[in-house]
Order: sequence, then structure tokens, then C-alpha cells
Amino acid sequence: MELRKDPITQSWVILGQREALGEVSAECALEPAKIEKLPAILNWPAEGAWQVRVLPHPEPLYHIEGESARLAEGMYDKMGAVGAHEVVVETPLHDKRMSQFSDKEIEGVLWVWGARIADLKKDARFKYISVFKNQGALAGEEWSHAHSQVTATIFVPRRIKYELNSAHEWFKDKERCIFCDTVRQEEKQGKRMVEVQGDYYALCPYASLVPYETWLLHRRHNHLFEQPRPGSNRRQLAALLGRVLRRLEKVAPAFHLVVHTSPNTRNKKGELSGYWKTLPDDYHWHIEILPIVERRSKSYSIKEVYFNAELPEQAAANLRALDPNS
Ligand SMILES: [Zn+2]
Ligand SMILES: [Zn+2]
Ligand SMILES: [Zn+2]
Repeated sequence: MELRKDPITQSWVILGQREALGEVSAECALEPAKIEKLPAILNWPAEGAWQVRVLPHPEPLYHIEGESARLAEGMYDKMGAVGAHEVVVETPLHDKRMSQFSDKEIEGVLWVWGARIADLKKDARFKYISVFKNQGALAGEEWSHAHSQVTATIFVPRRIKYELNSAHEWFKDKERCIFCDTVRQEEKQGKRMVEVQGDYYALCPYASLVPYETWLLHRRHNHLFEQPRPGSNRRQLAALLGRVLRRLEKVAPAFHLVVHTSPNTRNKKGELSGYWKTLPDDYHWHIEILPIVERRSKSYSIKEVYFNAELPEQAAANLRALDPNS
């Protein structure tokens, strides 16, 4: 497999076949009896029976070994698909969705996500660590057993680059963080706010790409998801995430969730050089949830300009009205 960059859109694309998994079994591949035979990257809690277990992805898109240098092919750029690809098994129980976890169990998953980001950032080759979760067949989940995935890449994904650039421009202009400004304005207006738990906010963004798109943000500024500020209470974030997922599952059968955090600053060369001075001031970690609402799946068909039939003000009002406890 190799990575190729479109010089016009700046997107990196993974090209080539994924390794075959061998025989496909009808049994769940993430059952404790199976995965406990495999070497684990991390267990939570560290002592006793595991609740969350991290494994290498059995069919990885990226490999730790390989050629990570960028090669030119005429005017084009390509490189080997070097990186890391891990699976976070979020519970030993096959039928338990994250929305059914206790706040403490969700906090465990959040802690594991942070620990994997921090650990993978020690490798200076990796420029960005992505954490994402696809739940439901419509979201393209790989297993129905609750899990999320972590990838480390030797490039910064285009979407993150856009966010970094906008946040940087905003800060240069106003000396304020664009995400902190967003939280303050949304808090004042209230109409797109779904819920607040302590210092954590859930809101439907002003220009939502899809119906019921929801972001989770911390009121206190911090560019690193993996390094909570002293005094922050991640149990509140866990509680908010659980409540938001229980609301969303009543309107959408599937969703994508992604953690956006600061890129790795160990490697100061290349595409983001010169940027780093204000990064701790201008970027702000957040979680984005993109639900997939079946009847509105047309929203996804027009790729150039997003079409979303549901106003975020109405989506937030609908979500507020739903029971977050069941
Ligand atoms: Zn299972
Ligand atoms: Zn901020
Ligand atoms: Zn984002």
C-alpha cells in the first residue's frame, strides 16, 4: 500500500489492497477469549480484569515499519503507508454499546484514548494521531462489538490542517482562540446548546454538515486532549458523552465520532513548520459526532456543497427534549 497526495486538494489517499484477514469467522473477533490470546498494547485498568483493551489492528491500513520518506513521482508526492493502527476494545461484553456504559467506564475509554495519543506522539515520525469510532452498519463499523480505532500518520490529515489554519488566522487577527470564542457565543445564545455538564459543553455547530451533528468542547482552553488541565474533571466529560449518545441514538441508527487534538510537535520540519509558536494558544481539542440519519442520507450525496435539511437550532431543541437517561 502507498500514500499518494493530490496536489490540488492536498488530500492524502491510501491506495492498494488491505491484507486479507484469512478465513472469515461467524464469531465476533473481539471476544475476550480470542483477544486475550493476543499481545495487548494497553489494558485499563492496569490491575485486575480489563475493561478496555488496546490491540494492533488485525488488518492495518498503516504499518510501523517501512519507507516514510516522501518520494517524488514527477510533480506528485507519494510515500509508504507508514504509521500505527490500533483497535480499542471498549468493553469485554459483546452487546454493550458505549451509550450503555457507566460514566466511569466511558471515562476509562477517554483515558485510554489520551494514553494512546500521548504514547504514539513519542515517535517523532508521526505527525498526527487520530482517534475515531464508527458505530452502526451505516457508519461502516468493522465489528459490532463496541470499539474505537487509533491511527498514527506521517502526515496531518487535510481536515485537521484546515482547522489549524483557520484557528491560526483567527488568533493572529484577534489574539483569541476560535473555539473559546465559539463556546462563549453559543453559551450566550443558547439555541444550539444541547447540554452542559460542569465545564463541558455539547452543541450543534452553526454550520452543521449533517443533521444532529454535535460537538463536545471544554470551556477551559487546552490544545491537547491527551493532557487534561489540572483540575479538569473528565468524569463530567464522560457523563456528557454518555448522555449525548443516548439522545442521538434515539434519532440516528449510526454515527462517526472523532477526537480532534493538536498534531505532534516533536518534528518541527515540513508541512507545519513555522506554525508552532502559537499552537498552544490557538488550537483547542474537541470531539465531533456525525450521526447518520437514514431518511436524510441524501445529505451525503452532494459532496461539493453539503446539504443538511435540519437546522442546528431545531436539532439542538429536539435533542434537548429527548431523555438522556435511558
Ligand atoms: Zn464481541
Ligand atoms: Zn480555546
Ligand atoms: Zn474538529
